[in-house]
Amino acid sequence: MQEDNVAAHLESCSSPVAAEANVSPEKKRKVNKTSYENHSWITKTTDGYVCSVCQEFGIKGLHEKGKSKGTWVTTPLSLGQSRKLSDNASKHANSAAHQAAVAASQLMRGPGPLRQLVRASNEADVRDSHATKTLFRSAYLMFASEIAHTTHWRELVSTVAASDSSGRLTKFLTGCPANAHHLSSSAVTSILEAFGQAIESEMRERLASVTEFAVMADESTDKSHVEKLSICVWYLTGTKVVETFLGCWSITSTKAGAVHQAIVDNLAKFGLSEEQLVAASFDGAANMSGERGGVQALLKKAAPSLIFVHCRRNLLQLALVRVSNAIPEMKQVLMQLTPYIHCFLTVLFG
Ligand SMILES: [Zn+2]
Repeated sequence: MQEDNVAAHLESCSSPVAAEANVSPEKKRKVNKTSYENHSWITKTTDGYVCSVCQEFGIKGLHEKGKSKGTWVTTPLSLGQSRKLSDNASKHANSAAHQAAVAASQLMRGPGPLRQLVRASNEADVRDSHATKTLFRSAYLMFASEIAHTTHWRELVSTVAASDSSGRLTKFLTGCPANAHHLSSSAVTSILEAFGQAIESEMRERLASVTEFAVMADESTDKSHVEKLSICVWYLTGTKVVETFLGCWSITSTKAGAVHQAIVDNLAKFGLSEEQLVAASFDGAANMSGERGGVQALLKKAAPSLIFVHCRRNLLQLALVRVSNAIPEMKQVLMQLTPYIHCFLTVLFG
């Protein structure tokens, strides 16, 4: 009833993991008199035997530094060593690394201040993550509704905290130090930037498989008189055309060369290059659509078969403006319809 029996039993064990768990205490006592009784930490996996204590509580790097080179922890003791399981287990039990792990496990599992601290810290983590989720949802509501987020952030968070009957968020906000309560306008800007980064990385993954695409871009000046360039791409997924808004960036000049460079640079952020372009669509401005020196012409240098289309949405806009200028009644109808169209689009696309 020595190692041979232990090995035979372990080999016949149906579950590849945690052989101990599948053995009734009585049977285990009869069969595993040596290794398992002496070393309750032995766990059998499909790759070999490991030490459950060292795996959970081992001090990082300590096992690899010893003679064992990580055996029982990062490198399971091979199943072929079953015959010498007892000897190997005893050696491991006497190693400094194992004893340190046992001491750590006793500290963590036993009653005492350390355990209480760990539990309190875990509970605080759960509470904090709840509060953070609520803050993120509140911020997202404002971004999606295009509400000025920095000016309304504190009011919104206060309202949400007041309507939370569990008082979790209030406790979180009042319990944090002043530099970590997430109520400043820079906190909401950071959340907005984090959303942006997450969306950008998701888009990068989605666009990684795109081989050919069309680009739509437009530049205009914002309220602060800063020139902005927005870019959309169109590509095929199977037979479905997908339109993706990549973003809006500041540009230093509206000259064709600068706009072209900005388009190329920003496409590159998503792993797209101008050589992959099959079509482009801009408004009728000479810097964008010009056949000789416009962005269209510059893109064609890299993608000679590129098809240029004067943006149909821009043409519709021009037609509507011209009609409304000529017919006052039409202008009134369009002015009254605009907020409804905006509302409809917001409901439709968020
Ligand atoms: Zn160990």
